[in-house]
Amino acid sequence: VAEYENGSWGNFRIEPYAPLQLNPANATLHYGQSVFEGMKAYKNTAGEVLIFRADANQQRLNESARRMCIPEVPEEIFMEGLKTLIQVDADWIPNKPGYSLYIRPFVFATDDYLGIRPSEKYKFIIFTCPVGNYYAKPVSVKVESKYTRAAEGGTGSAKAAGNYAGSLYPALLAQKEGFDQLLWTDGKSHQHIEESGTMNVMFIINDTLITAPTTTGTILKGITRDSVLTLAREMGVKVEERFLRVTELEDALVSGTLKEAFGTGTAATIAHIAKIHVNGNDYELPEIDQSAFSNQVLDKLDQIKYGKTEDNHGWIIK
Ligand code: PMP
Repeated sequence: VAEYENGSWGNFRIEPYAPLQLNPANATLHYGQSVFEGMKAYKNTAGEVLIFRADANQQRLNESARRMCIPEVPEEIFMEGLKTLIQVDADWIPNKPGYSLYIRPFVFATDDYLGIRPSEKYKFIIFTCPVGNYYAKPVSVKVESKYTRAAEGGTGSAKAAGNYAGSLYPALLAQKEGFDQLLWTDGKSHQHIEESGTMNVMFIINDTLITAPTTTGTILKGITRDSVLTLAREMGVKVEERFLRVTELEDALVSGTLKEAFGTGTAATIAHIAKIHVNGNDYELPEIDQSAFSNQVLDKLDQIKYGKTEDNHGWIIK
């Protein structure tokens, strides 16, 4: 835990996991100044704890913070807090394949007032939770054509609490129709695929990997997305960071040129998409085997995260 008051961070401490006390006028509860991160630590066979790309999460937390008028958490405070906590919580990580420690850093306003202005006080908290083997089942998705997750000029590229609140209702409607997740489209025309609610999405059409760019400010800059694109380029896969049109997706589904579709994110690393609902039609994707790009890249990422291969990219922090 760290606290921000009078323009600086202080009062650093490790506390047992426990409820927080909040005043009913707490600014976060009313105006939503809250940003967070999700990351993971793994154990190698020697029992050492390896934190995956924590520097990227720290930078993204601060990008989100700037957009929401929240003070940045300096790198040394983030890293020192994280490493100290991990030492305390390392025993929670079972030294077994597939297990890891989910890490949730977040910053939220702690001023108590009812006017609309940025808070002058904040808390930065990190807590962890051991997570088991994530056997991601292939998911079914629906291309959203009415609701919008993020508009240009909005807060879509920030990992801000309110973005998730606004996504719940459309996602619930899709679940009632039998789909696991939504594929969000752009807020203007609903004609371009953006991302899912918790993952970036990638498509392999013929031999080209296509994923939405992060330059419009409407898509979260996924760290798994970046890792997968880096490995794809090294593997010689042709990568296009551009919007896939909904009609193009439908054409590729009809003609069979869509070979693979998958989400990328910290929770599952890779979640295969087995079924896509678009413009009232359901399409099944072809079955894939171990030679599929998504399975190869999942294996490569697991090797790096569990320290089974050399970390050539500087992604592991001990
Ligand atoms: N998009 C959204 C909206 C997300 O919540 C997440 C999960 N953080 C992602 C994409 C994937 O990001 P990452 O790979 O950094 O987990």
